[in-house]
Amino acid sequence: MSRIAYVNGQYVRHADAAVHVEDRGYQFADGVYEVCEVWQGKIVDMPRHLDRLNRSLNELQIDWPMARSAVEFVIRQVIRRNRVVNGLVYIQVTRGVAKRDHFFPAEDVAPSIVVTAKPTSPAASQVQADKGIAVVSYPENRWPRVDIKTIALLPNVLAKQHAKENGGKEAWYTDADGNVTEGGSTNAWIVTKEGALVTRPADNGILRGITRAVVLDLVQKEGLTFDERPFSLDEAFEAKEAFVTAASTLVMPVTRIDGKIIGNGHPGSVATRLRELFHTATDLQTA
Ligand code: PLP
Repeated sequence: MSRIAYVNGQYVRHADAAVHVEDRGYQFADGVYEVCEVWQGKIVDMPRHLDRLNRSLNELQIDWPMARSAVEFVIRQVIRRNRVVNGLVYIQVTRGVAKRDHFFPAEDVAPSIVVTAKPTSPAASQVQADKGIAVVSYPENRWPRVDIKTIALLPNVLAKQHAKENGGKEAWYTDADGNVTEGGSTNAWIVTKEGALVTRPADNGILRGITRAVVLDLVQKEGLTFDERPFSLDEAFEAKEAFVTAASTLVMPVTRIDGKIIGNGHPGSVATRLRELFHTATDLQTA
């Protein structure tokens, strides 16, 4: 079965899916995106993801390419047409196709939309979670509006590649004060020796992860101690546990930071429990 993508009003073979060379996403990274998990045939937290898409679009003054309900319909169609049961659905909206010019194009230029879906392996992800991942710190060098989920991910690409070349699965951005902001494509958490969960406040310095928000709901439900504040890399080295969150990884234990072993070197009990409980706290809609 060939994969199907949705591109500007048409369902096309994934192999043939293309946008114009003068799409502003291609030329200026002038666009935004979302990634939702598909779990057991259900779309995880679509309303929250589309709320964040709405916010990203508003911040950049890009119009919705079509009604939100139509985007939901296309998301469902793309998941179904690709028969994705467990996987990820990707939604990208750019400012559209126009002659290359930094200024916004004329008002009649329609935003472009692309939706794709791909299967992933929950079993492979669990194998990784059972072991824990290594992260590598990297100097924060992004613009101050990383709360907008833009497709301009070159700094993230370079940070993650640096992590990979140094034996890590993820990079942890560290700011000028020595505090961890977030991962290259995840939010960053620690559990202190006293058992308190710590993650940086959702200011403009991090992407307001949907998975992060779900975990915060879980933390409340479970009555866990929680401290929303910056934490330093040094504090992370001394932590009992560390983990990252994202739609693509869910709650993923971190067992090594910059080569240093965290806690006892195995996934911690808090991260493991939050991972187990994760989908009990999500909104699940049939694809
Ligand atoms: N931080 C960054 C930089 C990301 O790219 C992502 C996800 O792509 C996240 C955090 C986690 O966000 P979410 O939980 O909504 O997937």
